[in-house]
Amino acid sequence: MSRRIAVVGGGAAGMAAAVHAARAGAKVEIYERNDRVGRKILSTGNGRCNFSNEKMDSGCYHGSGLKLIEQIYQNYGVTETKAFFEGLGMRIKDRGGYLYPASGQASTVLDVLRYELEQLSVTIHTQRKVIAVVPLRNGKDAGTDDGATSPKGRIRIETADHTKRDYDAVILACGGKAAPNSGSDGNGYILAEKLGHRIVPVVPALTALHCKETFFRRVSGVRCDADLTLYIDGRETVSDRGELQWTEYGISGIPVFQLSRDAAYALRKKRSVSVRIDLMPDLPKDAGNGEADAFWNPRWERQSGQTMEQFVTGLVNKKLGLLLLKLAGIGESEKVCDVTDSRRKELTNLFRSLIVSVKGTNSFEQAQVSAGGVDCREVTPQLESSLAPGVYFAGEILDVDGICGGYNLQWAWSSGFTAGRAAAKQAVERP
Ligand SMILES: Cc1cc2nc3c(=O)[nH]c(=O)nc-3n(C[C@H](O)[C@H](O)[C@H](O)COP(=O)(O)OP(=O)(O)OC[C@H]3O[C@@H](n4cnc5c(N)ncnc54)[C@H](O)[C@@H]3O)c2cc1C
Repeated sequence: MSRRIAVVGGGAAGMAAAVHAARAGAKVEIYERNDRVGRKILSTGNGRCNFSNEKMDSGCYHGSGLKLIEQIYQNYGVTETKAFFEGLGMRIKDRGGYLYPASGQASTVLDVLRYELEQLSVTIHTQRKVIAVVPLRNGKDAGTDDGATSPKGRIRIETADHTKRDYDAVILACGGKAAPNSGSDGNGYILAEKLGHRIVPVVPALTALHCKETFFRRVSGVRCDADLTLYIDGRETVSDRGELQWTEYGISGIPVFQLSRDAAYALRKKRSVSVRIDLMPDLPKDAGNGEADAFWNPRWERQSGQTMEQFVTGLVNKKLGLLLLKLAGIGESEKVCDVTDSRRKELTNLFRSLIVSVKGTNSFEQAQVSAGGVDCREVTPQLESSLAPGVYFAGEILDVDGICGGYNLQWAWSSGFTAGRAAAKQAVERP
């Protein structure tokens, strides 16, 4: 008789786990609190679903499980993920290493997964929130709703409508806390905590930063290429370059997302957080050899008869140029030749090194992922709980978060495969 596995959470990781467990011969049931599975997948990659990335290594991830990720990706990484989706009939579009369904529709990823679940006769219970996961430690725990006996080693799950069922293995794939309207509101951490797991503090990641300065309204809506460096207590930490988006409250866009988890943890510890913005990242940095002067001096000379508004025009977005003039205390209508060397220096420094003070991140509602979660040191390389054998974890519920670019979904596919296969194998092998 095939063994029964329950997957709690029908997101990317839960569906992947269910497919692989069923392919390995287990009888699988998914419990999903929403009225449908995979809601979050639909909003990924701006509706196009950046489901993986050709450039993949553990350096693209954070959390307590970097070694674990390496082990897991050796068995099931990008190559296997591409083969998996192609095997389900999905053509793939490679955009400079960023992988998408060729249809341009995130719904394709969800559809092919749903069809495969149907093909494999996986039962999907929607609108069924799991509220307890209990390993049965002795043979006396009878009384499930399906009348099954409950030998030692099985795992009981209880849903909000008070049904109880026992399984040979349970895979927790409840997601993290990001985008809670899609169903992942952090309740999975509570289920894990009740099993004795430590939860690494959870913060919003891949999200925008709120800043203290009051000038953001003047430049809200501007997008520009920039190089960003995060400073924590004055110490340089991470950097990233890309399209910076200026908002009413601060800064957003992919390079900001990449810095946000470190900023969030630092703010949580009440550290001082700031970002240095280089608005002219293509220009050589001034290493004291006059590289910057070679750019600026001819400009000061050539435009000496013009106004400072004219001087900044064409360097960066106009609104940003005017903002920098204001921050340097230089009037727009001042003549270039009247600006002293020290004020010139102050202005040119601002183009290369505008410092903004960070006071917060966007909330979980606007974050793409959450950093933190179930401590990876408490799971085996097969993603089985070392505290509650028979319980497995997959996806964002674990303390793993990737950078922007398909890395978080790749973790969902790889961890789903690992947990699904191992749970099915364990369930079949366990006497
Ligand atoms: C706007 C947005 C865009 C993104 N874009 C990308 C992208 O392009 N590329 C990328 O790699 N990543 C992207 N991500 C991140 C990626 O979507 C997630 O990391 C990934 O979906 C996590 O998968 P998961 O299965 O672990 O969790 P989730 O997708 O959150 O799924 C968890 C599921 O569990 C259900 N659930 C929770 N608790 C219970 C319970 N107690 N009982 C029953 N069901 C429960 C939830 O309803 C949910 O369906 C994006 C995220 C967002 C929010």
